[in-house]
Amino acid sequence: MGKLLIVGTVAFDAIETPFGKTDKILGGAATFIALAAAQFDAKSAVVSVVGDDFPQKYLDLLTAKNIDISGIEVVKGGKTFFWSGKYHNDLNSRDTLSTELNVLADFNPIVPDEFKDADVVMLGNLHPNIQRSVIEQMERRPKLIVLDTMNYWMNNSWDELLEVIAQIDVLTINDEEARQLTKEYSLVRAAAKIIKMGPKYVVIKKGEHGALLFHEEHIFFAPALPLEEVFDPTGAGDTFAGGFVGYLTETKNVSFNNLRNAVIHGSNLASFAVEKFGTARIESLKKSEVDKRLRQFRELTQFDIELQ
Ligand code: AMP
Repeated sequence: MGKLLIVGTVAFDAIETPFGKTDKILGGAATFIALAAAQFDAKSAVVSVVGDDFPQKYLDLLTAKNIDISGIEVVKGGKTFFWSGKYHNDLNSRDTLSTELNVLADFNPIVPDEFKDADVVMLGNLHPNIQRSVIEQMERRPKLIVLDTMNYWMNNSWDELLEVIAQIDVLTINDEEARQLTKEYSLVRAAAKIIKMGPKYVVIKKGEHGALLFHEEHIFFAPALPLEEVFDPTGAGDTFAGGFVGYLTETKNVSFNNLRNAVIHGSNLASFAVEKFGTARIESLKKSEVDKRLRQFRELTQFDIELQ
């Protein structure tokens, strides 16, 4: 079975959408990634940090999904990373109300020995130096290193971010962040600039407008499934990334063609994540539901025009 190493925040989130508000609930980039990747036949581990205010039941939830949590450090007397955000009415944009790094501020990640030869490494959203330290601890170059980031790190750790981006294979990023990173409005130009920074592939996530995969002169597009109800988009990007790397770890094939399938799997899982607050929907997701929606994806995108 392929091995997947995930690094990213394990967090408390407080979310406000036009439909309601939550107090501190389970969140974090690594949490969404790992729960999404758990849909695939892959052995995964999370490297992260929490404080001792983090409920044991959340850690147990990850363990129950066969996610190795030996790389999650629990800091005695420490406070867990906290993020809060408020969505605008269109749900495609949000304001960050607060980001409290807490125990993340001086975290030294330690990759469990058993995962130093992971096939795929998913560097989820957190400080670029932590992402780089994980790459440096690998015993051999993984088949694929995927990195996700966000505006917070561009604003606060620009040079460190560029350094780690130079070492990876795939960058996943949302449209606004791609524009901020490259100062290009056109996403095609932005992707070309990102590829010059190091990665061979770029995935630009466009929320309810799907995701674009760029590689050399090729572009592939996966729509987002048009949903009747979108409740809370938090974690959609991370769930996308989890589906993407989970599928690639299961299939152990990192060709462009297979990355296209991975983008579809990512979009498919993200379509569930937005249906309930936080991780609720992705936690309870069944394989039969995932397969049913994949069929809908196929119907949505297949056409039969004959070309000369
Ligand atoms: P997404 O909606 O996919 O962009 O991810 C939202 C998740 O990212 C939330 O669960 C947050 O806990 C986490 N998050 C928010 N800001 C940051 C940050 N600056 N670094 C790492 N994780 C973050």
